[in-house]
Amino acid sequence: MSSQPQPSTRHITLIGAGLAGAVLATLLAQRGWEVEVFEKRGDPRIKGYEGGRSINLALAERGRHALHLAGADEAVMAHAVMMRGRMVHFLDGRTDLQRYGRDDSEVISSVHRGELNVILLDIAERAGAKLHFNRGLSSVDFNSRSATFIDPRDSSTHEATFVSLVGADGAGSALRGALSTETELGERTEFLGHSYKELEIPPTADGGFSIEPNALHIWPRGRYMCIALPNDGRTFTVTLFLPNEGDPSFATVRTGAEARALFERDFADAVPLIPNLERDFERNPAGLLATLYLDRWHLDDRAVLVGDAAHAMVPFHGQGMNCAFEDCVALAEHLDREPDRAAAFAAFQAERLPNARAIQAMALENYLEMRDRVDDEDYLLQRALERKLGERHPDRFMPRYSMVTFHRLPYATAFERGRMQRELLVELTRGHASLDTLDWSMVDAAVRERLSPLPAS
Ligand SMILES: Cc1cc2nc3c(=O)[nH]c(=O)nc-3n(C[C@H](O)[C@H](O)[C@H](O)COP(=O)(O)OP(=O)(O)OC[C@H]3O[C@@H](n4cnc5c(N)ncnc54)[C@H](O)[C@@H]3O)c2cc1C
Repeated sequence: MSSQPQPSTRHITLIGAGLAGAVLATLLAQRGWEVEVFEKRGDPRIKGYEGGRSINLALAERGRHALHLAGADEAVMAHAVMMRGRMVHFLDGRTDLQRYGRDDSEVISSVHRGELNVILLDIAERAGAKLHFNRGLSSVDFNSRSATFIDPRDSSTHEATFVSLVGADGAGSALRGALSTETELGERTEFLGHSYKELEIPPTADGGFSIEPNALHIWPRGRYMCIALPNDGRTFTVTLFLPNEGDPSFATVRTGAEARALFERDFADAVPLIPNLERDFERNPAGLLATLYLDRWHLDDRAVLVGDAAHAMVPFHGQGMNCAFEDCVALAEHLDREPDRAAAFAAFQAERLPNARAIQAMALENYLEMRDRVDDEDYLLQRALERKLGERHPDRFMPRYSMVTFHRLPYATAFERGRMQRELLVELTRGHASLDTLDWSMVDAAVRERLSPLPAS
């Protein structure tokens, strides 16, 4: 099906034409690489997007930077909905908008996964990448550099030779499975013990958004929560996160009627917005949430993993795709800089693995923050001080959320500085009920002493 690539050529074979696969294909094709991409599913541009994972995603600066380099930013942003902050829905029905950044230059965007994938595939193809759909990787012979694909429509098998394989085939990566029979990857998966289910808020009768569109809505309830992200079709996708065990959990809330009872008790203001609550709850599968850790992402010059295939994470920082896109830029740059592919893959892993670990840890921490802290008094005071210090010392103090979301400082740097800043915030607000009682000269001195100037990002 494909010609026999020679090891000397700039030929590369990508597995998966999802989010990372399509962006990486574009970046490499633009640099003159001969790129072939094999995707298990049919072409979503012909048969519609099959879905399966979250319907919409929060796109932030790291992702936008990669899209910009791929020449896709404008097309994607034409379908995006801006989200200025978290709209917190309290149990008593009150709401409060907590801004993410300083102003509208620091916002995130909600994008539809299917629309995004279609745009990226068009751009990849235009850049010169060859896309093969209905080709699910089933096995790899690393000695002869030959891969076998199965067409899910008729179970026929197809062979393709390769110089190097890039696994952009997501959390359940078949390439990772094949690699693990060849080398020790140090793979472990930690399940969160919580799962998610998606529901829909349709538009109003006159076709508008039924709640504030420019926000990520959160209903924090301690051990569990609901969120809702806007879509450009004026709907919202609601995601209910619940533990797998205990009460309430997916073990006690199993039917549409039980889901309605939970919503009436805990998310009452959302109930009138979700007319098909029972149907959505019963039809849509519960998705598991887990973090995937590997110690090794590549096999010499023959294969490397990117995106979720290398480091799937829980979705609570909205960074899985953003991180995957950042991987694509890094890998394309390493391959450009280093003609020895084994060395390029090793350099890619050395750069990205510590950063993936850092965002995986921050994503886990953010779950606790979103579901349990956004309505706490001490948390709100720390956040108020965080904002003030960001204004008073923009060269030294930047809220961790901003470092991750609006800048491209390495995740590991954001994680480490975030830890130092958090200690400072806890110390400085201890015993205070408001910022008015703080001794600002002491506060400023502490910032200057404890935080070095931020590196440029
Ligand atoms: C509920 C939820 C919410 C999320 N929200 C956000 C968010 O707000 N912001 C954010 O940045 N991230 C978010 N994420 C994470 C994001 O979805 C992933 O990080 C991102 O999709 C990773 O991209 P990928 O290309 O590595 O994998 P995928 O998007 O999973 O793409 C993998 C592709 O490989 C194909 N494939 C699979 N197996 C094979 C095979 N054997 N052969 C060939 N092809 C194959 C698949 O069909 C698919 O097209 C969320 C995830 C979840 C679960």
